Amino acid sequence: MAADEFKPNDPRLRPPFPSEYPWTPIPTPASDGAKVSIGLMESSRIRGPGVALSSFAKEGEEWTLPAFSFLVEHGDEAILFDLGCREDPENFTPVTKPALEKFKVEPQPHPVFRLRDGGYDLSRIKTVILSHKHFDHFGNLETVAAFDPLVVVGPGSLAGIGKGYPEDEKSIWPSGWLKDRRFAELPQPTEKKGDKWTVEGREGEKQWEKMACFEEGVDWFGDGSFWLIHAPGHIVGQMMGLARVTTSPPTYILLGADVAHSQETYLPVPSSASSSDPRGTEPVLNGKVPFLEDPVRGVHDIGTLTRMSAEEDIMVLLAHEAPALNVLPRWPEKLDEWKENGWKEKKQEGVEERAKERAAQV
Ligand SMILES: [Zn+2]
Repeated sequence: MAADEFKPNDPRLRPPFPSEYPWTPIPTPASDGAKVSIGLMESSRIRGPGVALSSFAKEGEEWTLPAFSFLVEHGDEAILFDLGCREDPENFTPVTKPALEKFKVEPQPHPVFRLRDGGYDLSRIKTVILSHKHFDHFGNLETVAAFDPLVVVGPGSLAGIGKGYPEDEKSIWPSGWLKDRRFAELPQPTEKKGDKWTVEGREGEKQWEKMACFEEGVDWFGDGSFWLIHAPGHIVGQMMGLARVTTSPPTYILLGADVAHSQETYLPVPSSASSSDPRGTEPVLNGKVPFLEDPVRGVHDIGTLTRMSAEEDIMVLLAHEAPALNVLPRWPEKLDEWKENGWKEKKQEGVEERAKERAAQV
């Protein structure tokens, strides 16, 4: 399907309506207090052609996107979910060059440096979870050497990285990272259906299970506070994170990674009774969908963001969601009280109005 030719507004790029997804209630944790805290950090920003990011962008328009990294704290232990974009773009491996000609990196401090300079005890970070293996998410894995976390990637990710650069000239990672860091790759859900498995370096058994509108989720800590969700439409192995950030009432943040690159791809939530869908389709350039390796799975994944956004106790947040820049506080403040602060509505402000304006122009 990936090699297929697509046209702008191709019906195959239309994500399903929210009502078309089956729903499995999010399990209630055995312990009332099961939760994580989320801190948001920026890494280097990325500037590039809007038309590659959204079907609503105008020709020639340049967009500047953040590349977020998240500190996920669970008791005494912490995860870094994505490292964003490295602070020294000249040190990317050569295969990244064409992407960097199109998308310019505007250097900012690396998230690990932000934590260090903010006095955070880095030894608490036992795990780095990379949502996927793109350059604006894996940051710089040399920066984590001092605290040596387990680096977790999604199913099938490591095969595409190969031996690493320079042994493999086409590899996006330096080979030193592969030699020096400890990696764990989650198993393919299709191979492990219903089975329990373990992650080397972690205690306890895990399994892929249905949760909310997702077919494949993993309860990472085993207490219902943080789920990893398989969403491989953008790229093989991509994972989102669902964080339970308050307990009474339970509210959640869905870290949506690169399932979409623009809020208007998954918003506003269309009414299933309506025949029109105000969401944008994924952009098509020269017959290709630039950011979905598997376009059909990709629009399915985008539809899950819409479905989750329909829940008033869930806020979706993409890795590159520009409207969040002026709304959400940065670490050391936390995102946990997003609902009380109305941040979901604030970062969505204007989305519906703009969709209505677009509809009126057709
Ligand atoms: Zn990205």
